[in-house]
Amino acid sequence: MRQLSILLAVLIYAECNSQENLPNIILLIGDGTGLTQISSGMYANNNKTALESFEYIGLSKTHSFDQLITDSAASGTAIASGVKTYNRVIGINPKNIPQKNILEICQEKGYSTALLATSSIVHATPASFYAKVKSRYQYQDIALQLSEHSLDLFIGGGKTHFIKRRDKRNLINEMTEYEFVNNLDQIVNNNSKKMAYFTYMEEPPSRLEGRKPALEDMTSTSIRKMESLGKPFFMMIEGSQIDWAGHDNDMKYLLSEFKEFNRTIARVIEYAKKDRNTLVIVTADHETGGLALSGGSLKKNTVKGVFSMEGHSATMVPVFSYGPNAEIFKGIYENTEIFDKMLMAITK
Ligand code: MG
Ligand code: ZN
Repeated sequence: MRQLSILLAVLIYAECNSQENLPNIILLIGDGTGLTQISSGMYANNNKTALESFEYIGLSKTHSFDQLITDSAASGTAIASGVKTYNRVIGINPKNIPQKNILEICQEKGYSTALLATSSIVHATPASFYAKVKSRYQYQDIALQLSEHSLDLFIGGGKTHFIKRRDKRNLINEMTEYEFVNNLDQIVNNNSKKMAYFTYMEEPPSRLEGRKPALEDMTSTSIRKMESLGKPFFMMIEGSQIDWAGHDNDMKYLLSEFKEFNRTIARVIEYAKKDRNTLVIVTADHETGGLALSGGSLKKNTVKGVFSMEGHSATMVPVFSYGPNAEIFKGIYENTEIFDKMLMAITK
């Protein structure tokens, strides 16, 4: 009996101890951000990028279940849930079975969770971390699913999908657990556990057009909020419009969006270096525009890009990792393995 109770005590201790040691995960997704987007942003930024402080680099194969060229729904689902699916599908596998995603698995392990995007919060990439829909364009269904989800914090555009609805429901009124705020300061100076900040009614404008707040400030504030909740946290941060600049074949737009994403990565790394128990992963869902870096000036920090298409390309995209278990992200693998590796990082 005494031996049994000692064994039990040891087991309980081990369990508590492993809970305490669970790492935070901050996943940054640069939508449409291939190696050329990174190279262009780096040369245009005095030949520097925050990605240089990462410890390990891998390459991810981005194809969807049946197409060489993925869209952001299938690739978002691959990263979030570890399954290849059809383009346009979010959170559901090819056999029509809804999948649990990494954010939800983290929640079950007691994590706090947050999603930040420079698009609307119902757009394909962030939606891949809470929604299960056959089409990424079912924005009102996606909004409804978010309203019923137990996410702790989200910041992004798209308020309209929550209040101007065919079913006449006002989801914001229904989300009674949430405190809705109008600026970042209100997130920090608030004891409410669940919070949301709609930055824009529709899709946010570009950074060049004056989008506010800056993604790096959204990030710093959200990290402070997550820390105040006193539990490990999972956060996905999307630089959404690098992809839109690629679709527009607009280099100036692309560079300004990438620079903001780069400043955001710098903030996250700064935090991770201090915290010492935060796994940081930076990757892309696919490349956009088939961009080639065809010229420029090293002295003037200018770059000349040539796009070969207006859609996504099938090239592999880099995965940068830093922190506990970062080494498992090196090598060449399917995008679904990013999910597998994140899962491994919080279970081993
Ligand atoms: Mg996206
Ligand atoms: Zn795209």
